[in-house]
Amino acid sequence: MEEMMTATPRLTSPKEVRALLEKLGHRPNKGLGQNFLIDANILDIIANTADLQPKDSVLEIGPGLGALTERILPKAKSVTCIEKDPTMVEYLKSRFTEFTLIDSDALDVDLDALFAGGITKVAANLPYSVASRLMVDIAECEHRPELMSLTIQKEVADRLCSPAGSKHYGVLSILTGVAYGNTLVKKISPTCFLPPPKVWSAVVRMERRKVPIVGSAEYPTFKNLVKYCFSQRRKQIGTILKRMGISPVDELLADAGIEHTERPERIEIERWAKLARLLS
Ligand code: SAM
Repeated sequence: MEEMMTATPRLTSPKEVRALLEKLGHRPNKGLGQNFLIDANILDIIANTADLQPKDSVLEIGPGLGALTERILPKAKSVTCIEKDPTMVEYLKSRFTEFTLIDSDALDVDLDALFAGGITKVAANLPYSVASRLMVDIAECEHRPELMSLTIQKEVADRLCSPAGSKHYGVLSILTGVAYGNTLVKKISPTCFLPPPKVWSAVVRMERRKVPIVGSAEYPTFKNLVKYCFSQRRKQIGTILKRMGISPVDELLADAGIEHTERPERIEIERWAKLARLLS
């Protein structure tokens, strides 16, 4: 028993993770999305999807107890972690030495500065409540990373990876799809986590496009246009634009290759980009 408490706990053993949490006096915090991955196979899939090379500097958001961290540390040149929970921060400091730890809310960190400083990949089991916001924030960074391997809620993964015409296609697919090609790699059962979440999850791969579909000059118009139009996704695009006071709508839509009667969910990113370019 004494040996078990002094040896480094195995983070893929539910029994040892439970004992560790008890020793730390910590109850998983729902608000912080603390569902710890305990499945070695899934952790390997996340690490492998990031395709880590010895030259890579990697960012992990929300390392928790470090189950993914210990898999990416030996594969990368450097690992930077951002963790909000002070108990996790203290534990990570005691468990790992060769890494940089930022004890902060990831939403308060200047992520673009980290990427400008040389971080080129992200591997993470993201806190679900802020996952969509973080993915869009990263896609909007000037120095956005070349590859991301992320675990997110399955329902969010569907939205991220859906093409135009699908019922899941929307603002998230478009604002991330401008800069990344998104693919769903693996669905994950709640039983792979401790405690198990109520929903299924998925590993997604986001690979940076060589050239983003929308340039930075037109991006603000593009984003406002897409958000506004999807707030009325059942309406026809011609009707929405007329309501916005845009004129002449028919000519503009014809130039963008869009039918007056099309609904926002049928318009691919490239045609939204054309429309935004014409508007700006
Ligand atoms: N990576 C670990 C794993 O796979 O077992 C833990 C993942 S858990 C889903 C999410 C982690 O993100 C938790 O450790 C939580 O404390 C942390 N977290 C939640 N919100 C955060 C935020 N806004 N900024 C940074 N970390 C956050």
